[in-house]
Amino acid sequence: MKTYQLAAVPGDGIGVEVIAAGLQVLEALSQHLGGFAFEVTHYPWDSAYYLKHGHYIPEGGLAQLKQADAIFFGAVGSQQVPDHISLWGLRLPICQGFDQYANVRPARVLPGVKSPLHNGEAIDWVIVRENSEGEYSGSGGRVHQGLPIEVATEVSTFTRVGVERIHRFAFELARSRPAKHLTLVTKSNAQRHGMVLWDEVFAEVAKDYPDVRTTRELVDAVTTTMVLKPAQLDVIVATNLHADILSDLAAALSGSLGIAPTANLNPERSFPSMFEPIHGSAFDITGKGVANPIATFWTAALMLEHLGEPAAARHLMQAIEAVTASGLHTPDLGGTATTAQVTDAVIELLRR
Ligand code: ATP
Repeated sequence: MKTYQLAAVPGDGIGVEVIAAGLQVLEALSQHLGGFAFEVTHYPWDSAYYLKHGHYIPEGGLAQLKQADAIFFGAVGSQQVPDHISLWGLRLPICQGFDQYANVRPARVLPGVKSPLHNGEAIDWVIVRENSEGEYSGSGGRVHQGLPIEVATEVSTFTRVGVERIHRFAFELARSRPAKHLTLVTKSNAQRHGMVLWDEVFAEVAKDYPDVRTTRELVDAVTTTMVLKPAQLDVIVATNLHADILSDLAAALSGSLGIAPTANLNPERSFPSMFEPIHGSAFDITGKGVANPIATFWTAALMLEHLGEPAAARHLMQAIEAVTASGLHTPDLGGTATTAQVTDAVIELLRR
């Protein structure tokens, strides 16, 4: 029997609610299927912890987390802490510290879910977001703060190594899918340094993947393709910021932010990878018991695949899709179900 060490970092807001639901589902799955189990370590690094201690991750925290086989992350963000502090205090130190450079975001309209698009069923995309540099490299600064001459810079840094590895990852992923189609998204007409490097390296890497069809779109143009011609896209590779924005659009077009999963992968497996729903802490619905747990369940399926449990991942996806098809939906999808009801329904199907 294989036992996976799982680090649970629920964080803030509905992160706590959906990770609790996700852990129940994983427990039910391992009991039903046998062959694997999870040993869960809970990390209480939320914004209340930050306000009390002055940091999210305590000294030695990342070294502890490194022992895990995978990290199951909820959300970070609180009305008491500025967003750039919470993001840079918890999520980004894990992504960047563990070199989780490939952020993978599948988008699909699950059975029974209504897309705002009339042709939403054509959505079957995977957005690959560069997750270690670019607009999120953290370089820049502010001088003369508060004076009329104040200056602030936000420097995007792109390295050849960073660009090449994300392109290779995206090509490998595109190759593994039936459509074998990869769209490069940049803004190389206006941003003539880093984005041009992206284009050039893409063309070089493409030579190693003659079986993958490629297209190029500017980031503004691709939003219209997503809305008007969704079938023209398959795998999309884009920078940290561009892909962040495109994946919220993809989630909305798939029916709700409450169903969209993401995997922050360290493909070399030198560090644990981190799995989280795309959504944030959603203060407006925190504590009401109506957060949609489907994004977190789908996230758990991505985690099972990464851990080498594809049969369990498939079983979980089937249960998720049967529940969405049944019409048992939380309010974000137009229903009246609670987090607990959706969770129980998925667990019941897993046990069948
Ligand atoms: P962040 O800034 O951390 O991304 P946020 O609170 O600004 O977080 P999100 O949490 O990403 O924004 O979500 C925006 C809105 O979408 C929420 O206010 C909520 O109404 C809805 N939402 C997000 N996730 C869910 C979910 N799992 N279930 C139901 N509604 C959700």
